[in-house]
Amino acid sequence: KDEQGNYLVTLLKGHGIGPEISRSVKQIFQAAGVPITWEEHEVYSRAMNKEGDLLSSETINSIRRNKVALKGPFMTPIGKGFRSLNVTLRKKLQLYANVRPCRTIKGIDNIYDNVDLVTIRENTEGEYMGLEHRVVPGVSESIKIISRRACLKIARYAFEYAIRNNRKRIIGVHKAGVMKKGDGLFLECLREINEEYPTIQYSEKQVDTMCMKLAMNPQDCDMMVMPNLYGDIVSDLCAGLIGGLGLTASGNIGAEAAVFEAVHGTAPDIAGKNLANPTALLLSGCMMLDHMELYDHGNTIRNAIYNTIEERDNLTRDLKGAGSTTLFTEAVIKRIENKT
Ligand code: NAD
Repeated sequence: KDEQGNYLVTLLKGHGIGPEISRSVKQIFQAAGVPITWEEHEVYSRAMNKEGDLLSSETINSIRRNKVALKGPFMTPIGKGFRSLNVTLRKKLQLYANVRPCRTIKGIDNIYDNVDLVTIRENTEGEYMGLEHRVVPGVSESIKIISRRACLKIARYAFEYAIRNNRKRIIGVHKAGVMKKGDGLFLECLREINEEYPTIQYSEKQVDTMCMKLAMNPQDCDMMVMPNLYGDIVSDLCAGLIGGLGLTASGNIGAEAAVFEAVHGTAPDIAGKNLANPTALLLSGCMMLDHMELYDHGNTIRNAIYNTIEERDNLTRDLKGAGSTTLFTEAVIKRIENKT
């Protein structure tokens, strides 16, 4: 905390629409009296800082010190030698669990009502370790690593999350019929941890069957936990069930820090035009407030957002509204101030 007793939180505004939606979050959090002082850090889209590194050690240290960060989208630089900034951040801070709640928001025209599910994705291993090489011309090898240590960690996180958030059912999503060793180990660890949580109903489903079930009856699903690659794909599928990327929040959780972010990208086509929908970053900010146990502030802001959307007050264009980033922000602030 700082001298005023406010929590220090690192803010990475990011690129493209990042600064616009971050401004909206700051204004709305201020209107709701959230006791936070933002420590803003610039993340470069090219190697511009003196260390020649895209993510400076100052930024990483700030997140380690404050233990929480909110981040806007990063442009992934294309070119040799550059690794995705998101992957770098997850690796450096060992953010092993990606959490994405997807809940139907009233006022959005969706195929499904009453979706309320959570995906928990293992964030550090699997196919995403970048262990790839060309064996001979025409043949490449990509290595998928699954370790007992990482599986037990994500399994524990999922069951603890269920208890804390009053969730009843967890599905372990896998392809162990084919990936017998890797996904087999993942399931073995889930079953082991499940024994310690008798109140949670645990089952397993192959990832292909899971996708079909999600497309047909997403209302039946409560929580899913899965390895990295399936988690990446299935969590985007789930975002689609509730109206897309502009509405979906997420958190990346590690032992020493947690980073909350919207799941969408930098939206270069609308950047700087006051058209971006700040909802996903706002809801990620609310997840962060829950994580910091500032539940009342999180609920106040969430309710104001849900009411604004339900009444379709100045919604942005992606939600078929005629508003703008700033008009939507003002509409949410009005509800916070009027306590509606
Ligand atoms: P994108 O999510 O930026 O855009 C896809 C479409 O959705 C665009 O039409 C965009 O205008 C729209 N959109 C996205 N967010 C919106 C919002 N909040 N409000 C209104 N409309 C919104 O995906 P992309 O175009 O594939 O990627 C652009 C850049 O973003 C790339 O450099 C990519 O690497 C990066 N990216 C970053 C992250 C991240 O940092 N977490 C995630 C995905 C993509």
